[in-house]
Amino acid sequence: MKKKNEWITKEQKREAKMDDRGIVDLIQVKEHFFHGFNQWIDEMLDPRNESYTSYTQTDLIYLGILKNVCAVESMRQMNEKFNEKECIQTLAFLSQNEDLEELPDYTTLNNYLEKLSPKCLSELRTKMIRHLIRSKAFHKNRLLSKYWVVILDGTGLFHFKEKHCENCLVRTVIDADGNKKKDYYHKVLEAKIVLNNNLVLSLGTEFIENESEQVNKQDCEQNAAKRLISRLKKEYPRLQMCILGDGLYCVEPLMKMCSDNNWKYIFNLKEGTQKNIVKDYRWLGEGDAIKTVTGIGKEDGTGRYLNHVEETTGKNEIFNVFEYEYTKTEDGKKSMFVSCGRPILKSKIGI
Ligand SMILES: [Zn+2]
Repeated sequence: MKKKNEWITKEQKREAKMDDRGIVDLIQVKEHFFHGFNQWIDEMLDPRNESYTSYTQTDLIYLGILKNVCAVESMRQMNEKFNEKECIQTLAFLSQNEDLEELPDYTTLNNYLEKLSPKCLSELRTKMIRHLIRSKAFHKNRLLSKYWVVILDGTGLFHFKEKHCENCLVRTVIDADGNKKKDYYHKVLEAKIVLNNNLVLSLGTEFIENESEQVNKQDCEQNAAKRLISRLKKEYPRLQMCILGDGLYCVEPLMKMCSDNNWKYIFNLKEGTQKNIVKDYRWLGEGDAIKTVTGIGKEDGTGRYLNHVEETTGKNEIFNVFEYEYTKTEDGKKSMFVSCGRPILKSKIGI
């Protein structure tokens, strides 16, 4: 008989069940939303020499997914943690490979991923997102019942004190002692689709990097955004989008690309990026051109808007300016947006 301190309490049992639940949820989500997932993996161009393969692509891709969803930090740890009968059975169940008897070694997975074209995984992601969009489960969250909200979001990946590769971006920074130093870095721009308040998925990724060390002008967020928008249109030709971005993207070439695609846009409007638009908005506001709406949302905020400021400023793209202000007990908050198309008062975006 077990000693008392070795007994599992009811609460511990419940917790253990909850722990086990994760893999069940994963399988349910896969079956519900991505029924053809295994077939999509099978259809990827296998980069390996067929005569040396003992695992299917599906085995290897699922192993990589499991490593990441179980938050296993390194490939080596994966070998140790997953080397159990239950894990092998789970992997065999997911990949529907009855013959799977051993886990692939991490070097096998690494070799496969090194050879696999990134395009294959990117297309796999596109298929998954297309499926989610077609399933209509998230249709009610579209803006004005029509436009999928897509956020442009730039993130820094790595910083280096010394040049690390030919594609590094570089800037001069001044350190705490006032010395000028070079900072080498890598950045990535992501387009993320908002399916609902808790589900934001990456639609596309664009690296912001220099083609070579000899470039005259460095790559920047706006150029990367142009490449990303072109690619999104190619990959999702019929998807109606409303592009959201901060002041950095509030420039006419990007607005034109959106309008040409019949998309909408909402950008943060900063005094520094579009000085004349802001100046004219304020000037027009001295008369009674600006409309005011009070009592918006749960913050009971105040919105002011004026459409087609571009006609006064002499710009080609549509600048419908929307200003939103609300007061919280601790800090008042004021933001200004520019949009294309109808005013955005009823949307949840930016409010
Ligand atoms: Zn680099």
